[in-house]
Amino acid sequence: MVLNMKVKIGIIISLIFILNLIVISKYYSKPQTTFKEQKNIFAQEKYYLEKNLDRYNSYYATHPDLKIKDIIAIVNVDADKKAYENNQKADVNKGNLILVNKYNYLEENYTPANLMNMSTKFAYQDKQTIVEVNEAFINMYNAALKDGVNFYITSAYRSFTYQKELYAKYLLNYGEDYTNTISARPGFSEHQTGLALDILSEHVQMSEFVNTKAYKWLKENSYKYGFILRYPENKSYITGYAFEPWHYRYLGEEIALKVYQENITYDEYYAYYLAN
Ligand SMILES: [Zn+2]
Repeated sequence: MVLNMKVKIGIIISLIFILNLIVISKYYSKPQTTFKEQKNIFAQEKYYLEKNLDRYNSYYATHPDLKIKDIIAIVNVDADKKAYENNQKADVNKGNLILVNKYNYLEENYTPANLMNMSTKFAYQDKQTIVEVNEAFINMYNAALKDGVNFYITSAYRSFTYQKELYAKYLLNYGEDYTNTISARPGFSEHQTGLALDILSEHVQMSEFVNTKAYKWLKENSYKYGFILRYPENKSYITGYAFEPWHYRYLGEEIALKVYQENITYDEYYAYYLAN
């Protein structure tokens, strides 16, 4: 009887011990889904913005396979929202640093100050840009020539009206989905700022420009003259545009260097350092 009692107590203690083990192991193997833990995952990332935490969480919930750093980039630039439908007026007070994309637009009557005609020595007929951009481009052009590299401008400032015609032409030829990856709606084009240039090589198709010496040179050197490659390869989920090796955006030397060094898109740079 006494022995039986000891056996019973032994069995009960063992059961309690096993139950404890089960509870403890379940607790520690639980996936990290609590609010507090998710916040910590995001907060460790460089471009984390506290104000976007709720949006990081909801985007993560519907896109669990994405990298945390990509979720942060997407939300920071508003790409978790539908393009063109969640937009605001671009902040024209930012001057050369103005952000124009599928979420920040310019009004129909916006025309940059200090527009001038570019020389046909390096630009197609009737190309206009801002005086400061023209000077920076000439410096870049001359430096490239010294390295045996030549290029010319096919597109610079584009008015709202011109962009409207261009977008309509693309729509007619390609339909809306594809057009939206290659052309901006009127008001949403960076070319309306006067700060964007399309640069190509002579006798080279746009689709072949990526393979040229000129593209390689621009990619490695344009920041020294204040320009950045605006729609880089594999970044269309952030910029909303397919890779455009020919499209350069003037920011001035200081900021162009920073964007180049951090190796992020201008949309991301603006959201993190310049918005607000
Ligand atoms: Zn362009």
